Amino acid sequence: MRRAVSLLAKGAVVLGLWAAMAVQAVEVRFERVAEGVYAFIGEMGARTAANEGLNANLGLVVTPAGAVLIDSGATFEGARQIHDAVRRVTAQPVRWVINTGGQDHRWLGNGYFRSQGAELIAHAAGEADLRNRGHDQLQALRGVLGPKADGTVPTLPSRWIRGRDERLELGGVAFELKHGGGAHTPGDMLVWLPAQRVLFSGDVVYVDRMLGVLPVSHTGHWLETFAVIEALDPGVIVPGHGSVTNLATARADTQAYLRALRDHMKKAVADMTDIGAAIKGFDAAPFMRLLNAADLHPGNASRTYLELERE
Ligand SMILES: [Zn+2]
Repeated sequence: MRRAVSLLAKGAVVLGLWAAMAVQAVEVRFERVAEGVYAFIGEMGARTAANEGLNANLGLVVTPAGAVLIDSGATFEGARQIHDAVRRVTAQPVRWVINTGGQDHRWLGNGYFRSQGAELIAHAAGEADLRNRGHDQLQALRGVLGPKADGTVPTLPSRWIRGRDERLELGGVAFELKHGGGAHTPGDMLVWLPAQRVLFSGDVVYVDRMLGVLPVSHTGHWLETFAVIEALDPGVIVPGHGSVTNLATARADTQAYLRALRDHMKKAVADMTDIGAAIKGFDAAPFMRLLNAADLHPGNASRTYLELERE
């Protein structure tokens, strides 16, 4: 009898822990980067139920006329938690949400913020990508998150940025939105705060972990977009993934890899080396220190080869 009670008690503890984990989920916490400027640094591994698909960084800029959120998270529920985290920083309403790219965790939380009255802003070059992949991305997320993805509806921006360089202002704070032709996704857009010299790079910069070349990526334009960052010479870079960083680290962890991969594949295509031999012949050793490299490098290499074959 006593044994049965203690087993029951253990069972209750385990159930309780499980319930606590299920309820707690990801903890969104914005850290100060500069005066009025904050970043949430997401986990660097894969999407999991525990991180709610929020394995990416977000930004927050507080102005006297309202708050600006940079990227809306992967789900309706995740966005609600992001909003809670915003409220711990400021009482200002979220006036704008800027989506820096077409990956799920950059924009699938849009529906929640629209319901809160925010204006949703993204680059028009990414519109087709958002339309094409929104539902598939949500299906894939459902597979990982289950009911935690409930309530999420892919919601397109209400305001499209069309130029390569557009300046917006809210509460006296300038936001320069820059598009370099598409990088990790076609709509990848830099958010530059000239007064603070802070850059939110979105997925144009990955540090600490290996970047991902997707079928919708363009490594050539990616490097051109990177050159835009170099010209800005930012004081601080909040990358799409990895810790708050600087230009030197961004060069080492993103630009050097993309350059080496493109140079190698360009030569392989010109020499008519087949794709298998071209991938084997690339010296990935200098980049295997980056997290997720073993998983992501083979796909990156083959997609870069295919891109150069088309050029
Ligand atoms: Zn990403």
